[in-house]
Amino acid sequence: MHAVQSILQSGESIRPLSSILGQKVVGLRLKCNVHTNGFVDRRVLRPRRLAIFYAREEKVNISGKDFKGLEVMGEVPVLSTKSRNVGGVFFDLDDTLVLTHQADSAAHSAVLELVKVRFPQVDRSVLLKSFIKKFVGHAWDPEHKVEVTQWRAGLWGKALEEQGVVNLDLAREMQDVFDRERLRSFRWASGVEALVRQLHAQHIKVGIITNGHPVVQRAKLQACKASELFDTILVGGEEPNSKPHKDIFLKACGLAGCKPEESVMVGDTLTTDILGGFNTGFLSTVWVNVHNEELPPGGPKPDHIISSISELENVLKQLGVALN
Ligand SMILES: [Mg+2]
Repeated sequence: MHAVQSILQSGESIRPLSSILGQKVVGLRLKCNVHTNGFVDRRVLRPRRLAIFYAREEKVNISGKDFKGLEVMGEVPVLSTKSRNVGGVFFDLDDTLVLTHQADSAAHSAVLELVKVRFPQVDRSVLLKSFIKKFVGHAWDPEHKVEVTQWRAGLWGKALEEQGVVNLDLAREMQDVFDRERLRSFRWASGVEALVRQLHAQHIKVGIITNGHPVVQRAKLQACKASELFDTILVGGEEPNSKPHKDIFLKACGLAGCKPEESVMVGDTLTTDILGGFNTGFLSTVWVNVHNEELPPGGPKPDHIISSISELENVLKQLGVALN
């Protein structure tokens, strides 16, 4: 127990530990070190986690081997004294700082209203599904020959053609309506502005690292006046490498003047935001689970999970940042 307390002296809550330390603790190790008894598979541990082992009577199986008298009891986040200072918090943009799926939905509705007036015979549900399928395939020209707005108008055009409507002017108008309506409703999620100002008040740098096409992302950033609020803004499409590549995270840290080990990454996508933050050695990663999804087995594991940005304050508190 003494060892637990000394490791956790930096202030990490000891309550979760006390609730499970009813058994005799036989070993404690930080990071992926092998337990002194040699029984611990590295894969069961993750960096910045404290593993707890305790003695018990039953036979346990670790990595295909049976061991008696030892079991991995659990993992809890732990921070060393050195890494406790949060110097920067970096956010993803879409569906993290702004509920983009809601803005998209409003914009799609406006587009379909236009189609309803012009070509009432078109099955609008089929049209939208077809467009989205094409969009997910290639949201912009992979060869960068066609301008992004024209490219997306072309996707609408192809979806219309599937229902016998050949009208590129309408397709262009549809994309214009989409862009206009989406940007009109592209606003910070509740609490974002206050949160960022509170972080600034604590002298913590605040940045955005967003993937996507530069023209599209810059228009979104302008719509919500991001540069007035954030110290550093990086767009994946403008960089040699997008998220989850380490380079973009390291560049963001460099521009903001904070180290990866004192930085926090907050985002809604496990395979870009969380994986990238983790691989870059960030102090902590926070998954904004806006769509209430299950954490997929075997995927990147965030240090913290919240359902909206308004819950970030509690996570920061655990990291030693008390916002006013
Ligand atoms: Mg996102």
